[in-house]
Amino acid sequence: MRPTGRLHLGHLVGALDNWVKFQEEYECFYMVADWHALMSEYENPMNLQENAVDNVIDWLACGISPEKATIFIQSSVKEHLELHMMFSVITPLGWLERCPTYKEQLREITNRDLSTYGFLGYPVLQAADILVYKANAVPVGQDQLPHLELTREIARRFKSLYKKEVFPEPEAILTKSSRLLGLDGRKMSKSYNNYILLQEEPQAIRQKIKNMFTDPKRVRLADPGNPDKCNVHSYYAVFAPEREKKIDALCRSAQIGCTDCKKELAEVIIKFLEPIQEKRLRLLKDKKQVFDILAEGANKAGAVAACTMAEVRRTINL
Ligand code: SF4
Repeated sequence: MRPTGRLHLGHLVGALDNWVKFQEEYECFYMVADWHALMSEYENPMNLQENAVDNVIDWLACGISPEKATIFIQSSVKEHLELHMMFSVITPLGWLERCPTYKEQLREITNRDLSTYGFLGYPVLQAADILVYKANAVPVGQDQLPHLELTREIARRFKSLYKKEVFPEPEAILTKSSRLLGLDGRKMSKSYNNYILLQEEPQAIRQKIKNMFTDPKRVRLADPGNPDKCNVHSYYAVFAPEREKKIDALCRSAQIGCTDCKKELAEVIIKFLEPIQEKRLRLLKDKKQVFDILAEGANKAGAVAACTMAEVRRTINL
């Protein structure tokens, strides 16, 4: 996860909630990708470290456990860069230039100059992040599949050049894109200012939900609403599935007004976030514990990464 800001509900639904499940089934490495963030935030990198620690506090508060998973910050394991360099020399330029997300981001992100050497090589660093741990699987959304395919291609190229299978070809664990849209119905994103932070104050949550769009055809209280056209209803589906059907019926029969419906939802979300925020507060009071977790994670990750790099060096006789 790139530490470009504080975490919101969109990060929790669809990413962190999967991570919590995966740590029960797999040996997981969860990394704050600060070098990746630097590639797009190089003009203003001053908050990256602060965000990195803040994000990890949210991960822990949401249930990511240092007993079950390895949690670390990318820049504390230098082998990522060493393998990135190694892969850079064997990756044909054309593979990177045709990467759809690269072309899309160059086109869409216009407030920063991303036509840099580093940004073009972004997927090569991703390949190093994955293969330095010889990962068998990576949870990705549909949009990240081309990057994972590139990782697999790099693993194959390494094998064909040096006649040794050092890296497995990792499989995708396809995760559904977040079921949760932003407050305005677009993708929840910092740039659209349409999010609720995991650490959002109750009063701010009430205000934000009060301003949410509802079924645009429902003008008066007596008009029956259509929950299928209402973003508020989709939040019930995620945060209060036990109320979803009832709200659906009340809305269609005009027995509940949008103001009350949103008030109830705000309280649901405040209650949902309460244990996360309480745990976050406890961790904030004991930041040493968080730094210890990160140091231990970096040690564990670093030991695995060092083994892989020793094997790589032996393979190419460096
Ligand atoms: S009553 Fe609730 S679900 Fe129905 S349109 Fe209003 S906010 Fe949406």
